[in-house]
Amino acid sequence: MQIKTILNRVQKFKSFVYGAVRWNEATSPPSLEVELRPRANGWAVCSGCGQRRAGYDRLPLRRFEFVPLWGMKVFWLYTPRRVDCPCCGVKVEHLPWVEGKRPLTTTYAWFLAGWAKRLSWKEVAEAFHMSWDAVFGAVEMAVAWGRAHVDLSGIQSLGIDEIAWGRGHRYLTLVYQIDAHCKRLLWVGEKRRVKTLLRFFRWFGRERSAALRFVCSDMWKPYLKVIAKKASQAIHVLDRFHIMAHLSKAIDEVRAQEVRELKAQGEEPVLTHTRWLLLKRPEHLTEKQGGRLAELVRHNLKTVRSYLLKEDFQFFWGYTSPYWAGRFLDQWCTRTMHSQIEPMKRVARMLRGHRQLLLNWFRAKGRLSSGVVEGFNTKAKLTTRKAFGFRSYHAAEVALYHTLGALPEPQFTHRFF
Ligand SMILES: [Zn+2]
Repeated sequence: MQIKTILNRVQKFKSFVYGAVRWNEATSPPSLEVELRPRANGWAVCSGCGQRRAGYDRLPLRRFEFVPLWGMKVFWLYTPRRVDCPCCGVKVEHLPWVEGKRPLTTTYAWFLAGWAKRLSWKEVAEAFHMSWDAVFGAVEMAVAWGRAHVDLSGIQSLGIDEIAWGRGHRYLTLVYQIDAHCKRLLWVGEKRRVKTLLRFFRWFGRERSAALRFVCSDMWKPYLKVIAKKASQAIHVLDRFHIMAHLSKAIDEVRAQEVRELKAQGEEPVLTHTRWLLLKRPEHLTEKQGGRLAELVRHNLKTVRSYLLKEDFQFFWGYTSPYWAGRFLDQWCTRTMHSQIEPMKRVARMLRGHRQLLLNWFRAKGRLSSGVVEGFNTKAKLTTRKAFGFRSYHAAEVALYHTLGALPEPQFTHRFF
């Protein structure tokens, strides 16, 4: 069987045929070169209008990289024709195996993009002896195709989240679909302003926004404002993951401050190395740890009281009736306001201010996959961190869509990956 025959099995063209196959020793490592030529009497197709046109002249030979074989690079060689088109003027012919002026065949670009889901872009570049830019170009193409063909029908629930990105206080707004039947990243936007989320709703469209039933988000004011305006019919839920994150952040603040105060007073550093002690369940503590916990409690530290308030708040999520959950919330807030612990009081004030949205959690219960946003948040952070080499917002955006977007792919005769 000839290589030509195999190529015709995996990728056959109507108007082009494979010619001679050469082994090129001059490249390192050696490569395979496959000639391509137009089928006899074949017309060239204008790349401007897609019509068959008379030939004009030929351009210099071009090389297009194809999927490697037995660890060898494979190149297709072709001298493109130019057509004299009555509509477009003199134009290069349309080549079905490549997009625009790219040096990679579309098939190879999809192949690399597939690997880039499993390995970092740098690893893919190394494994296939490609440049980082070539891998990025391949992923960019896959994402552009996927975004253009994405199916946005039947979306009922959205989760809106933000992640810090790069150095300094830079943020990305991420919008997820969190329906039981489909969970994926829908949209990425730079910053976390009113304008950012408005851009999402403009892209998403009025009709689809009107069909939303649940929107899940943090208490971030710009988001609340836009959601109330653009999806007012949906039940807006403040999700558990974000609320508990606010409490954890408050505790860390209390702890850091208290450590400083104790040090200033020359007290024994009772609080050092206690973070995990306080997170462990009492029955799992060793005798020594139990003794330390008792000592901490005896000190009646603000940190300990904050932990207890947070632990207590976990009961909130267990309620089924919004009424009783509301009663619990009010009592918890009153208690916290009397605690004289400023960071905790700040959370309590914030929760009081969003009572209605918090109680929506119980109205949406069972109909919303609440852990989804947290899971996506972790993966999104990992993606942006792994790709530390991202020089631009655009690259981070492409990586997020590629990893979390569950984007569609075209159907090929042969699956190379
Ligand atoms: Zn034309």
